[in-house]
Amino acid sequence: MNDEVVVEIEDAVVSYREDVALRGISLRVRRGEFVGIIGPNGAGKTTLLTLINGLGKLLQGRVRVLGYPLSRDNARWIRTRVGYVAQVQNIDPRMPINVREVVMIGRYGRLGLLRRPSKADWAIVERMIELVGMSHLADRPIGHLSGGEQQRVAIARALAQEPDIFLLDEPTANLDWRAQREILELVKRIHTTRELTTLFVTHDLNTLPRACDRVVLMKDGLIRGEGRPEEVLREDVLSELYDTPIRIIEHDGRRVVLS
Ligand code: ATP
Repeated sequence: MNDEVVVEIEDAVVSYREDVALRGISLRVRRGEFVGIIGPNGAGKTTLLTLINGLGKLLQGRVRVLGYPLSRDNARWIRTRVGYVAQVQNIDPRMPINVREVVMIGRYGRLGLLRRPSKADWAIVERMIELVGMSHLADRPIGHLSGGEQQRVAIARALAQEPDIFLLDEPTANLDWRAQREILELVKRIHTTRELTTLFVTHDLNTLPRACDRVVLMKDGLIRGEGRPEEVLREDVLSELYDTPIRIIEHDGRRVVLS
């Protein structure tokens, strides 16, 4: 991690017609940080990621990503430098596109839609498929994969962009325990080896210590606090954030969050 600030948000207000989703938030993220974002449904977490991905519409405030202010001219460039992985989606099993082709979609931001992928582009795609452990399924239709496998492909697609910033929006939601653990370990390994800056939205509070350098707490369109995982994994902090009593127990030297 170094001192270069790659995400700089000042007093950002974002609304979708009459709903105000972000009500004046400020956040700075340094290159190489792994930041967790938690908070109840509707807190504005996804909207915050969208803003960093160059897609949000600011009503007020300032956003700079990788040193560039968010503007219509810069938004497309910003999106090529930001990889985004969402929750596992329901994919129609008849969708006529295989793993390799899905990962190539990640290259199109750089290529432009009209240029054909070169050998070098396909080589990057193969490398990313290998990195996420999916080489043996590279020819399989995307709709014929398990949720965990689909998330590996989504990660490979984001990496094929060769991003600087990696945004993950509940990437382990709806996966079984083993797939959750494997995806989290993969994300951590990729964060380190590819020297990314990662923002990770999750409802799984127990993954925070293993994953994050810093955790940001969001509620009602505002940032309500932040700290190291051990600072925020406290009954009073989480009970107030989620408006419900939350218990934490010690087990094997670890804090475990119970709801
Ligand atoms: P969750 O944990 O449920 O995914 P979140 O913290 O990611 O929630 P957002 O999805 O950012 O929250 O939503 C913040 C607010 O903005 C909510 O009140 C939501 O209803 C509203 N909102 C989000 N997307 C849209 C949209 N496309 N159109 C209208 N309102 C929206």
